[in-house]
Amino acid sequence: MSDSSLSRRAFIKQTGASSVLAGAVASTSFAQRVPDPPGKKLGWAIVGLGNLAINQILPAFAKSEKSKVTAFVSGHRDKADKLAARYGVPAKNIYNYQNYDELKNNPDVDVIYIVLPNSMHAEYTIRGAQAGKHILTEKPMASTPKDCEEMIAACKKAGKKLMVAYRCRYEPFNQNLIKIAQDKELLGPIRVVVSDHGFNIGDPKQWRLNKALAGGGSLMDIGLYALQATRYCTGEEPTEISAMEYTDRSDIRFKEVEDMINFQLRFPSGALGQCTSSYGYAGQNRIRVIGTKGWVELEPATGYTGARLRMKIGPNLSERDIRPMDHFAAEMDHLSECVMDNKEPLTPGEEGLRDLKYMMAIYEAARTGKTVKV
Ligand code: NAD
Repeated sequence: MSDSSLSRRAFIKQTGASSVLAGAVASTSFAQRVPDPPGKKLGWAIVGLGNLAINQILPAFAKSEKSKVTAFVSGHRDKADKLAARYGVPAKNIYNYQNYDELKNNPDVDVIYIVLPNSMHAEYTIRGAQAGKHILTEKPMASTPKDCEEMIAACKKAGKKLMVAYRCRYEPFNQNLIKIAQDKELLGPIRVVVSDHGFNIGDPKQWRLNKALAGGGSLMDIGLYALQATRYCTGEEPTEISAMEYTDRSDIRFKEVEDMINFQLRFPSGALGQCTSSYGYAGQNRIRVIGTKGWVELEPATGYTGARLRMKIGPNLSERDIRPMDHFAAEMDHLSECVMDNKEPLTPGEEGLRDLKYMMAIYEAARTGKTVKV
């Protein structure tokens, strides 16, 4: 029987996870989380009412404690009206891409969440900051490092916060993974972080396959999760990157952007990252951190729900029970809290810029066949 075919209960039973280990890593598993009484909530405008906004972000406001949706920016008034009726957004707070800048006169809005195609993040972040609002922008932060730098500068000039929506940093499975990965007593020093992220992309007409709108292919979209994982698990920045790409250019989906791109990263401690990214293979979504004494893995790792954390230290296999949390509610509340308490977000613009620079190095390494120092 393969590991993945074991149910969690059967897995723990069959492997006989030791109580010592379970106690060491799972003591907070079922801690009760009592919600705070209703308090102040900041007002959020959502820019771009596509799949992510409709199916994930808007429903997440019901679970937010510090954030409420108060405005929409959309090119489709009919869609915006319907969603406004559902979420209690007043008609006066529905904007389009032309009158977006008028948000500056609207005190109902404190924060703007940009959920547009990648290459549009920069313009709407800069205009949003100029309108005097704090910004959460979806990942990737932009399609070039230069755009990221301009976004950071615009928010600094306006005195506003800028955060990149790296939702996995705000949810407990990835947070536990990081804690265990960096516990040298438990895992020993990290030797390798292996991460595979990809899926078979559908509609060949979608913006993700359009270079001008997406900035790149699988790497900019899904491979970014693998890159992030190597960095947050090690807690280090890479010094060298190598990469190899394969794209079937006769596939109608891949006329402009890459399909498969595998990359390796070297970290100062000697740890290595080993990543795959694809728009053309069966769904892969996992992170495994291998230390000298054992390993810890998440699979699925970065989906919206269903993550599982397992580990093997010496002979002991175990799975950790973790109470899941809505990723989007958690990330939005983090930024609302940073605004209220004047703190720097965990994933500021500078973090998005670093990833864009590494992704450019991955493309360069794949193109030249040479290791790139970063
Ligand atoms: P989508 O295509 O479903 O939605 C994009 C929205 O932008 C649509 O409402 C569309 O009308 C609007 N739009 C405005 N101008 C456009 C143009 N010129 N071309 C195409 N659309 C235009 O996309 P999505 O899946 O919601 O992704 C939006 C952003 O969110 C992307 O940056 C993506 O990388 C990111 N995203 C993040 C996650 C995550 O887990 N954090 C998941 C999915 C998407």
